[in-house]
Amino acid sequence: MSYVDEVIAKIEKENPGEPEFHQAVREVLNSLRPVIEKNEETYRRDALLERLVNPERQIKFRVPWIDDNGQVHVNTGYRVQFSSAIGPYKGGLRLHPSVNLGIIKFLGFEQVFKNSLTGLPIGGGKGGSDFDPKGKSDREVMAFCQSFMSELCKYIGSDTDIPAGDIGTGAREIGYLFGEYKKLRGLFTGVLTGKGLSFGGSLARTEATGYGLLYITQEMLRCHGHDIAGKTVTVSGSGNVAIYAIEKAQQLGAKVVTCSDSTGWVYDPDGIDVAALKEIKERKRLRLTEYAKYRPQSVYHEGRGVWVTPCDIALPCATQNELTLDDVKTLVKNGVTAVAEGANMPTTADATDYLLQNGILFLPGKASNAGGVATSALEMSQNSERLHWTFEQVDAQLREIMVDLYHHIDDAAKRYGREGNYVDGANIAGFEKVVDAMISQGIV
Ligand code: NDP
Repeated sequence: MSYVDEVIAKIEKENPGEPEFHQAVREVLNSLRPVIEKNEETYRRDALLERLVNPERQIKFRVPWIDDNGQVHVNTGYRVQFSSAIGPYKGGLRLHPSVNLGIIKFLGFEQVFKNSLTGLPIGGGKGGSDFDPKGKSDREVMAFCQSFMSELCKYIGSDTDIPAGDIGTGAREIGYLFGEYKKLRGLFTGVLTGKGLSFGGSLARTEATGYGLLYITQEMLRCHGHDIAGKTVTVSGSGNVAIYAIEKAQQLGAKVVTCSDSTGWVYDPDGIDVAALKEIKERKRLRLTEYAKYRPQSVYHEGRGVWVTPCDIALPCATQNELTLDDVKTLVKNGVTAVAEGANMPTTADATDYLLQNGILFLPGKASNAGGVATSALEMSQNSERLHWTFEQVDAQLREIMVDLYHHIDDAAKRYGREGNYVDGANIAGFEKVVDAMISQGIV
């Protein structure tokens, strides 16, 4: 059995009931086969892959908090510190009822490669809780965040582990988490990113993941002789990533005709009204059913279904495994040119294979959504030097990082005879830097 197959089998056996983690490990290790095979005996002797796929540390803790009626609730908190090979652990905190250890491990593992691809000195980690902020009062969210941080603060720090936002963790949650950290530790440091602008946040961090997704998609299309202007785009999700992906796509001259949330989706033939979407989702925290009140020509559908809409470019920006084989068959039938992931691992493994086999340009999330964490690292730099950069400065750096990232994964794919396969290109390019650091630092 090859070393790669041995490690995949071991991971599946030793981590039962964690299908998303298995999926992420399988995808990365399958891409790495040609790299590993060149050095198989040395890597096996040094247990290099076992060290790559097992987190350095995983922390699980109880989070008790009191609701507005005096009822006590107990949620579970997690922080998985996956790899510090190239820098301090960095990755978001997800607050969603679906969160469990396997989900956090999959996200932390992906984060290692994504952070490496940004070219910045950040290792990989991820955390979160099965707490659902939806429908909770601000006071309840604050109570949860304070309790969560009272435990998490023991394991994080501006030079060790720097969490950020993710699903369910936006500016409000980061503010409460930061306030509690400062109170407990007495330190005003850049221990979290995604902070408010009045206390160390970076301009353009809110926009970064969605904008970055469009910058890299634009560069990929340009290199393949296409222009984004005039294209029809479908987007899923209506959270942080989706909103700013829609905004930038429209600034670049495309028309985005869909968005969704976990209960339904909207088709707007005239193009999604971003101002209305921000009002509904960012300010009022309401459901997408409200959208029709702003745009009478739009159509609201219950359930999932975004991908039946004909488009040139599809941008899944909601959650993992939301784009299935049936969905991509429909996209291909309708003539899609490119699919770029805004969310983490939104495309199922068989759907990814189908897109690649059919010659569709496909960017995996660990490359295409790296703009968020890259800008978080720029926020860390600003915090360290106690300076504040302009929106234009940060945005220009973000664009440069995403364009460089595209060429980095394109080159890696070509070097291994996998031209145009950006899944392999991203996994190989991300791995090369991490493995170099791991080997240099010895068996730790
Ligand atoms: P938000 O919480 O802001 O938005 C998430 C969106 O996806 C909402 O519209 C939500 O609908 C929908 N959604 C969430 N879970 C489900 C589900 N199980 N089924 C259907 N729809 C769902 O999160 P973000 O926009 O920050 O994150 C979206 C994705 O992007 C995630 O995969 C995240 O890991 C990834 N990502 C985020 C980054 C960031 O900077 N924020 C950086 C890199 C990746 P509803 O409101 O109904 O729950």
